[in-house]
Amino acid sequence: MAEYVAKLIIIGSGPAGYSAGIYAARAGLDPIIISGFEVGGQLTMTASVENFPGLTQSVSGLELMERMHQQALNFGVKIINDRITEVDLCTSPFVLSTENGNCCKTQTLIIATGASAKWLNIETEKRYIGRGISTCATCDGFFYKNKPVAIVGGGNSAAIEALYLTNFASKVYMIHRRDELRADSILQQRLKKNPKIEIVWNSIIEEFFGREDISGIKIKNVLTDERKLIDVSGVFLAIGHKPNTELFKKYLDLDADGYIITRPKSTMTNIEGVFAAGDVQDNAFRQAVIAVGSGAMAAIEAQRYLASKET
Ligand code: NDP
Repeated sequence: MAEYVAKLIIIGSGPAGYSAGIYAARAGLDPIIISGFEVGGQLTMTASVENFPGLTQSVSGLELMERMHQQALNFGVKIINDRITEVDLCTSPFVLSTENGNCCKTQTLIIATGASAKWLNIETEKRYIGRGISTCATCDGFFYKNKPVAIVGGGNSAAIEALYLTNFASKVYMIHRRDELRADSILQQRLKKNPKIEIVWNSIIEEFFGREDISGIKIKNVLTDERKLIDVSGVFLAIGHKPNTELFKKYLDLDADGYIITRPKSTMTNIEGVFAAGDVQDNAFRQAVIAVGSGAMAAIEAQRYLASKET
């Protein structure tokens, strides 16, 4: 059991966490990243990234995160492979407890715990994650040029992503479990007008098929029990995200969907010295490049906060 004492602790090892670590280390804050046990976060599940500026060739999400990890180490960031299980943000310094029984005390805290995409949790799903199943059309839609795809969900994300996918795919099946969408009516009108989109009402996916990558799905009409096979090369899930904010809800202001509220143009939360960066405070974009930017913002704001306390 160890006790870590720091000026800055960053929770999370996705793009926001590493970016915060790199900026903070270069500002002389000797930051510690508590990486969690799924090191690298959501991006590690993406087969190929090519829209991250500076990449002249696509790399896997895993490789991109390994590079960020190495870059953080190169600048002297201490990275601890452990998971925070409890926080006390009423004390100064803040106190964090970890799953491995360690205790961390820190003057400032950057929360970069991300948001987790919801999954269908059906048997064959896991096998095809990164092999045809994606939770991010903006990231992966480009790989389905002239191929049929399906998107699951009936909310704003599903509608926006279905429309986006028509830029590439030959056909987009929008599979929705009810007979009515919850997406805004303007989006519904666009969906209905788009000849590439077919809404498959009252239906759920029962099974995914494919030798290595997905080549088809079996869907079930929940009203009639009728089953149908559809050939698709990709399936996008847009059934919502859950921000990883359970630990902080006692202390921090969260919006109705559970995301941490930060001040406009800032990563500051309602507690001085606590900052939030990346998807944990971003319900709108959920992009690595944006998370990286907000991680840098959080580090700069932590550094300014610490400097203001010293004077
Ligand atoms: P939502 O929760 O709004 O929608 C999720 C959709 O997925 C619903 O249609 C839901 O069905 C369906 N769903 C949920 N679980 C399952 C499941 N297990 N199997 C099949 N279908 C399922 O999530 P969004 O990500 O779309 O949006 C989240 C929030 O962000 C919303 O408030 C949304 O308005 C907002 N947003 C705003 C945007 C904007 O530009 N203004 C863009 C994107 C999101 P059902 O309808 O039956 O519950």
